[in-house]
Parts: sequence; C-alpha cells; structure tokens
Amino acid sequence: MMKTASGATFDTVVPAGEPWMGTVVRGQRLRIVDLEGNQAVDTLFYNARDTAEHYSAQNTIQAQRGIYLTTGTVLLSNRGRPMLHIEEDTCGRHDTLGGACSAESNTVRYALEKRSMHNCRDSFLLALATHEQGLTKRDLPSNINFFMNVPVTPEGQLRFADGVSAAGRHVQLRALMDTLVLISNCPQLNNPCNAYNPTPIRVMTWESA
Ligand SMILES: [Zn+2]
Repeated sequence: MMKTASGATFDTVVPAGEPWMGTVVRGQRLRIVDLEGNQAVDTLFYNARDTAEHYSAQNTIQAQRGIYLTTGTVLLSNRGRPMLHIEEDTCGRHDTLGGACSAESNTVRYALEKRSMHNCRDSFLLALATHEQGLTKRDLPSNINFFMNVPVTPEGQLRFADGVSAAGRHVQLRALMDTLVLISNCPQLNNPCNAYNPTPIRVMTWESA
C-alpha cells in the first residue's frame, strides 16, 4: 500500500553522491525511492545493538537460492538471522554481487586518472567515522546495490548493465530487528548503471501499521 509522505516518521532527500546513516527499529518500514531513475543505492545493514552482526550476501543468496533481491527476499545476517524483509519492490531487480565502487576498482575498471573521483567505499567510511561505536573499514562487508542491474552471463561473468529502474520506483523493507542503515548514494560517473548521472534519492521510515 502506498503511504503518504505525511504519515512518515522520517523523510529526507539524500543528494547524489552523498552518504546517509540512520536507524530503523524492529517493525518499522524503510522506503528508498529512486527519484529520477537508475540510481545505484549502495547499502549496508547492521544490528543496531551489536554492529558485529551485519547483512550477509552469502547467507541471503544461499537461503533464497537466488542472486537477485526483490519482493519476498529476507535479508539475513552473518549470524544467519533475519534482518529485514523486502515487502514492496516496484523496480524488480537489486544487485548483491557487484559490491561498492572504490578508488581502486575505479582505476582497474576505468582508468588510472579516475582514482581521485568520489566513490562509495569512501562515502561509507566517511559516514562510519561519525558513528559513536567507532566503526571503520573493518566493518565494511559486501553491500547491496539497490536499483542496480548486474546480470550474470551464461559464462558466469558479471555485467554492469543499463539500469532497469525508473523515476519514482521504490523498494520498501520492514525491519525484523533494530537496524542501522548505511547508504552511499553512489557518485559513480563511469558506470552505465546510472547513465553516468548520479541523482538524488528519498529515504522514508514509518511505524509499523
Ligand atoms: Zn558507487
């Protein structure tokens, strides 16, 4: 069910290329809106009460026997516990294999002179540095790329393909534990997944209905 913005307990726009960190408590809904379309939203989830527990791509893929995330997916932690449930998805495909862009990957994938460009790994670290528990790069596991299309070829290779999202599409998750959310709204200018044009997203939360 679509909710109105007025019912949201939290509602903000995260500019293109910026990080965002916040907490959703158990039962709350988190919605991420792809405002202009084909934006890659690199996201990590941690147990807000014990950040050594975090989203696990391996456990999630194994449990659902599939590599793409969509409606019905339960995101599992590194301790095998359910963290969040994807209850609405108007995009239909979210990547959990491609990882976050970094200065290193930008130089390998694109060109040496891309090293100084903004990237998600640095955005994650910038946000983590403000966390009271002193989180660092040790606390960066594999992330989800919401709205990003990373198909696997018959040969088993990953392709960074054109996005399949569009303006206004969203993903909505219900927190199954108190969860710290860490987003890098990707600043990537070299990858066709966001049409070489990073754009803002909207992040909203609701109390459970
Ligand atoms: Zn990125």
